[in-house]
Amino acid sequence: MSFFRDEFAAQWPAVRVRFGVGIRHDLVAEIKRLDCRRALILTTPEQAHIAAEFASLCGDHAAGTFTGARMHTPVAISEEAVAYARDIAADCLVAIGGGSTTGLGKAIALRTDLPQIVVPTTYAGSEATAILGETEDGVKTTLTSPKIQPEVILYDAELVRTLPVAMTVTSALNAIAHAAEGLYAQNRTPLTSLMAVEGMRAFRDALPRVLVNPDDLRARAETLYGAWLCGTVLGQVGMALHHKLCHTLGGSFDLPHAETHAVVLPHAIAYNAAAARDELRPLAELFGDDQPGMALYRFAQSVNAPMALHGLGLKESDLDRAADLAAKNPYWNPRPVERDAIRQLLQAAWAGEPPLA
Ligand code: NAD
Repeated sequence: MSFFRDEFAAQWPAVRVRFGVGIRHDLVAEIKRLDCRRALILTTPEQAHIAAEFASLCGDHAAGTFTGARMHTPVAISEEAVAYARDIAADCLVAIGGGSTTGLGKAIALRTDLPQIVVPTTYAGSEATAILGETEDGVKTTLTSPKIQPEVILYDAELVRTLPVAMTVTSALNAIAHAAEGLYAQNRTPLTSLMAVEGMRAFRDALPRVLVNPDDLRARAETLYGAWLCGTVLGQVGMALHHKLCHTLGGSFDLPHAETHAVVLPHAIAYNAAAARDELRPLAELFGDDQPGMALYRFAQSVNAPMALHGLGLKESDLDRAADLAAKNPYWNPRPVERDAIRQLLQAAWAGEPPLA
């Protein structure tokens, strides 16, 4: 099928993207290319050993390390990191990790305009967007700014090899969710649709191989390729019901990010299947079922993804409030967001049942 549209507008940020096994060893060249010489290296506490490895890779181009990145980008931590960046006179940021570490780099860049090099170690895709979600006093606010967009992305499959298998699966479904919703986005372009299909194809083909052998560097590289494509789609178009549901469940019920995406995706896509039949056809074809929601449900089962919200800690008694919140201020969606239908969707997702037709 063709992704041609009669009218569309596309604007692409100037981002340098490099792929290659061991590409992290070119880091100093990338720092110099930005005309910088004092990198601040960022990770989570769990990946502090990677910060040490990167500091040694950077040699005298490393000005310091900050290993306090946390999920949901708490503003207090970002401010601490900004103060440290100023103390050490950092002139660029090197964020190695998943969406949490990338988020910290973006939060520092927003406040300082320092250029960012991101080395992703999950498939979340944040490195490819100008979007930042920050948390303060328990409230998560999402903002977009050109200052937030990372300048350089280095995809090195050796770094994603350590991603535990369970997280590999949920992170991959998190990425697929960006592409799936990108297919029916109001402001999609032919290029975002092409990228969405190719990104999902990469995961469909490579994820099962990674599960057989998590050290298969070729398969890991292909999943990173999928992450780049799906993340780029997320950065280019507006997201709809699926992302709204996940933000509600994460923000108000503290459910884990990638796992929630994995469980909700088949249900959200099934909800929109009739309203976006043509747009979702490539997804149904890729995953081999007439019904796109069922196709994703079966794929998720085949890769041993978590299938039920109750397994993530959501109580059945929370479902009414979750439906109320998800139906309030909805994002644009191909099918109107109706509170009672969302309540039914959530019931099926909570129980781990197949998505409603
Ligand atoms: P994460 O960054 O929170 O990582 C989860 C844990 O896994 C951390 O402890 C991390 O150190 C560890 N980890 C990461 N890579 C690893 C590896 N290769 N080996 C071993 N351990 C590893 O998880 P995530 O799902 O990548 O990111 C979630 C966050 O990103 C959320 O806050 C979400 O809102 C945000 N996000 C933002 C965007 C955006 O465009 N702004 C897009 C996607 C996700």
